[in-house]
Amino acid sequence: MTQEHRIVVVGGGVAGLDIASHLGGKQFGDRRFSVTLVDREPAHVWKPMLHTIAAGTQEVTTQQTSYLVQAHNRGFAYEPGEVTSVDREGRSVRVAALRLGGDDVLPERSVVYDTLVLAVGSEANDFGTPGVDEHCRTINSRGEAIAFNDLLRTRMLKAFAAGKAFSVAIVGGGATGVELAAEIVQLVDLVEHYGIADAGEKLRVTLIESGDRLLGSFPERVSREVRKSLEQMGVHVRTGARVARADECGFSLPDGGYVEADLKVWAAGVRAPTLIRSIEGIERTPAGQVVVGRDLVCVNDRSIVAVGDCASIRGDPLGKTVPTTAQAASQQAAYVIDHLATILDRKQVSNFDYRDFGSLVSLGGYDAYGTLGRFGLFKGGFLRGRVAQIGHAMLYRRHQVRLHGLRRGSLLWISDMIGSRVRPRARLS
Ligand SMILES: Cc1cc2nc3c(=O)[nH]c(=O)nc-3n(C[C@H](O)[C@H](O)[C@H](O)COP(=O)(O)OP(=O)(O)OC[C@H]3O[C@@H](n4cnc5c(N)ncnc54)[C@H](O)[C@@H]3O)c2cc1C
Repeated sequence: MTQEHRIVVVGGGVAGLDIASHLGGKQFGDRRFSVTLVDREPAHVWKPMLHTIAAGTQEVTTQQTSYLVQAHNRGFAYEPGEVTSVDREGRSVRVAALRLGGDDVLPERSVVYDTLVLAVGSEANDFGTPGVDEHCRTINSRGEAIAFNDLLRTRMLKAFAAGKAFSVAIVGGGATGVELAAEIVQLVDLVEHYGIADAGEKLRVTLIESGDRLLGSFPERVSREVRKSLEQMGVHVRTGARVARADECGFSLPDGGYVEADLKVWAAGVRAPTLIRSIEGIERTPAGQVVVGRDLVCVNDRSIVAVGDCASIRGDPLGKTVPTTAQAASQQAAYVIDHLATILDRKQVSNFDYRDFGSLVSLGGYDAYGTLGRFGLFKGGFLRGRVAQIGHAMLYRRHQVRLHGLRRGSLLWISDMIGSRVRPRARLS
């Protein structure tokens, strides 16, 4: 007789939506998976694209995947709302009430699981820096990116209309900060193109990094070249500058320096979201990630699997750590899709093995840089320009094919190519 195994996936991001889309309604031996995906957002956006939505150089409505539609197309259920707690003993998660436009649409409720897949990603880490919470924006979710864009457009256009300068300061010289700085410069180039004279001269973008170079996880050559490109684009780069405090007007540095900014962005550090940090009785890293074995199962609870940014894998004989990147999250999702049934049967399963195919960083439409990883052809090579831009885009296109299949994924790509010719290149309305 077929038994139903209830999988609840919390978080429909890079890893979670892939897992829900591939396991929903699937039969393995005499076990059928019924999958429920819970996410606090109504739609999925490929997170490495959030800086383009924040800057307004991509339109969110054309890039998002509605969870409701995806659930219908791929055989899983979608439960909207924020998961506020996990009851490990009762094997259920608590989902907050859903309110829309001041009305209660759905009450607070519990969703029961046999296996819980935690895929809630990560958030920026302010390391307790005073003033960050009150005065800085983050762009870690679809909602935050849209809200940032609303603020950027209105404040920036208002300043330009009054003939005033406008400044943005971004803390964090990792991929998020670097890509956002370039994207804002691109937006202002487009603003000029659409008729606002001297917009480029009125904008000041400052990128602040506490380490001695940008992109600390990339080889030095990439850091050097990226810095040079950003400076040529007009971005003010400050390395070796740890922010001591944020206030309404900018950031204070410990050496007495001060960076003024009309808009302040915090894009530094990575830590697990509050939900993960609140689950009792499970082992976590100092950054709050769930510690899992090489089968991605929580080391304290066999009914919990954790993937992507919110998980940390223990037990690699070479002590390799898996980075918090979309590439790693995708590989972990593929592993869970292939092996979950075997793991549940407690049969021998091969370990998850992260394959580093390299890292890429895109500087808007201007340039892109990266390195090839330890796998694939041309190991460790340096990439720049069109090839790197195509490599960056391919990660996203591959994700779309995984979610929607080859035919629909390809049609989406073609429609984006047509859209980029016929739609405005920046959101200014
Ligand atoms: C601006 C930016 C640029 C980036 N660029 C790159 C890049 O170029 N290359 C790269 O490899 N990586 C990049 N990254 C990192 C990459 O996006 C992440 O490593 C990746 O998205 C992690 O995938 P994930 O599945 O773990 O989580 P995510 O993709 O973050 O998904 C988490 C999901 O969980 C949901 N969620 C969270 N908490 C709750 C809750 N309590 N209840 C319900 N739902 C919840 C969220 O709404 C979200 O849908 C970038 C990140 C940012 C922010």
